[in-house]
This record gives sequence, structure tokens and C-alpha cells, in this order.
Amino acid sequence: MAAEQPTPQTRKPVLLSKIEAFQDIVTTAVIIPKEDGVISVSEDRTIRVWLKRDSGQYWPSVYQTMPNSCSCMSFNPETRRLSEFILAEDYNKMIPARTYHAHQGRVLVVLFVLEMEWLLSTGQDKNFTWHCSESGQQLGTYRTAACVSGLQFDVETRHAFVGDQSGQVTILKLEQDNCSMVTTFKGHTGNVTALCWDPGQRVLFSGSSDHSIIMWDIGGRKGTAIELQGHNDKVQGLCYASHTRQLISCSSDGSIVIWNMDVTRQETPEWLDSDSCQKCEQPFFWNFKQMWDSKKIGLRQHHCRKCGQAVCGKCSSKRSTIPLMGFEFEVRVCDRCHESITEEDRAPTASFHDSKHSMVHIHYEATTGNLLTSGTDKVIKLWDMTPVVS
Ligand SMILES: [Zn+2]
Ligand SMILES: [Zn+2]
Repeated sequence: MAAEQPTPQTRKPVLLSKIEAFQDIVTTAVIIPKEDGVISVSEDRTIRVWLKRDSGQYWPSVYQTMPNSCSCMSFNPETRRLSEFILAEDYNKMIPARTYHAHQGRVLVVLFVLEMEWLLSTGQDKNFTWHCSESGQQLGTYRTAACVSGLQFDVETRHAFVGDQSGQVTILKLEQDNCSMVTTFKGHTGNVTALCWDPGQRVLFSGSSDHSIIMWDIGGRKGTAIELQGHNDKVQGLCYASHTRQLISCSSDGSIVIWNMDVTRQETPEWLDSDSCQKCEQPFFWNFKQMWDSKKIGLRQHHCRKCGQAVCGKCSSKRSTIPLMGFEFEVRVCDRCHESITEEDRAPTASFHDSKHSMVHIHYEATTGNLLTSGTDKVIKLWDMTPVVS
């Protein structure tokens, strides 16, 4: 079974260019496909369009200063619509199209859905709203439990995925002027920081400040949730490259992880509750009664990440990676599980790279295979992600 796994492609991000002219952090930036351009919005209140010159450097093409710092944007390459501006064909002009008075506080995420002519947005006022982008009218609103930091939409079924700071993902079914709550996904112990929807495989990825990514298999109908543990810090951005079946994730510690999603991973087991070690039967320290009866010193309860059993430290002294359960780092396993994990099972299913800046945002452009990262160092970096031919 394990022998059938395809070997992950070597895809080392190669730095192509840097854009360094910002006064403050670039909150969002996107690559303009076919044009060799970049659009950026920044805390320094600017919206800028950059075009690549023959020298390979990016030079500013248009520039617009907003009354407030810019927190997010949504750009549609087909219509060249940038939330509320329309970019001229030669990218030398920005035409204000519309202002939406959607939120009381700062706008956190916007998403333009061309097929529906909808503009979805969330704000610090904890409202999720959607507007008609033709009339500018507000169509509906939904009050979320906490501030929303991740937003994705499935055009085919009109479901919105809303990830918030309580760690929960709410699934809403949107109609023209109302919405209904379908279900919630609870799996993270920290804020949801990023969401990524792959409409092809009908899989939702959520990244969190708890360092983990969860893959929610919505299309598979089995309701599986697979954990991906490969970051040592907050997950800040997620992109899915559908043609190579790779998930790209970035974290505030500067690491970029490329996950091979062509392998079948297993769900992590539920942690079992027990008053004593499920291997040697020594009681855990809070089990006062049994401890007293058997006159043994209580032990600390740990869990084997592979079988989920509650075990003492002595019965789980070894560590192992379990890539097929999403653990790219070594985790606690019981002695019996440790013996059952083969060298083959330990083959990594993700590759790790250092971007050398603390990232706040990433964007992957499939047609060029380029990745854009934006950091707290106020720099945008562009990377070539195409496979290395050896
Ligand atoms: Zn034990
Ligand atoms: Zn075990």
C-alpha cells in the first residue's frame, strides 16, 4: 500500500523578485496573470499596480491613496475589477467604480464572485454581508460569533465558508436575499487565520493560529477531517495548486510548506479517556481513589497520536513522524505503535522551505506557477514554484 505512493515532486521555491517600496505592511497582493504584474494594498493606505520591466524589476504603474489603511481586496482578472475599482486595459489607470458602506469597523475579508455578481465581505463589526455588485445594494447579512478572518465561496452550490477567531468554520447557504446556517466545523484550538476551498475535489482547508491545518473532506461524504501538522508557528496563508495537487501553506515564522495532496492520509484517532495507562494499567495522578487503593504513585496521562490510547510516559517513550496522519514532526507514540511504523511510513509527504520573512499573506498564480509572499518586513517576494528538472 505504502509502496504505491507517488514520490512528491521537488518544488523548491526560487526567488525571482522583490518589491520593497512600501511604508507599511502589504496586507494583500495578487499576481496579475499574463501581465507579469502585481496589485498590492497596504496599511500605508496605497493601492498600487506594479508591472515587470525588461530589467526583471517591478515598477509602479498606477497608484491610488485611500482615506484609510487598506485591509483587503478582491481582484477579478477577467473583468479587471478590483473590489471597487476597474483597472484600465493597459493597467495605467484605476477607475473608481463603487463604494460599499458595508461595515461599521474595519473590513477584514472581501471576495468578489463574478458568476453571481456578488461582493461578499466580513468586518470587525462581526457581520458577514453580501452585496449585488451591479446595483451596489446590500442583499443580506449574517451575524457571526466572532470576527471573521477566512472566507471562501462555492459557486456551484452557493455555500459560503466563514472561518472566525473562535476557531470555528460556519457553512452558510446563500440565497439572493437570505441565508441559512448549514453546519459548523470545530477542530481548531486557535483563531482560523486562512481558508482555502478546492471546488474540484470539494475539499476545504483551514489554517489556524494553533499551528495546524485541517482538511475537511466535504465532497467525500464521509465527513473526514485530516490534520496537517508541519508548522511551528501561526499558519498565515493557504493556496491550493489543483493541477499538481499541492497545498502551499505559510507561517509567521517564515516557513513555506508544500504538501503533496496526492497521498491518502488517515484521520487522527479520538483521544481515549482513561483513569489508568491503557498499556501497563498504572493509574494517572488525578485518580485519587484508585491511587489510594493500589498504593501506587500516580502518573501523567499522555496520548499516543497513532492509536489514541491514554498511556503513561514510560509506555510512550519514543517519538516518530507519522506523515500519513499529517504529522510531519515527531510526536508521541506508544511503544507498540512505534514498532509498527516502518521506515517507508516515515517518508515525508511535504517539503519545507524558508522564505526568510515573516509572512502575512500568500497568493499562488496557477498559469505562471508563481507564488507571491508578503511579509511584516514590508516586502513582497515573488517565487518560481515550477518543478526543478534534475
Ligand atoms: Zn504505562
Ligand atoms: Zn499507540
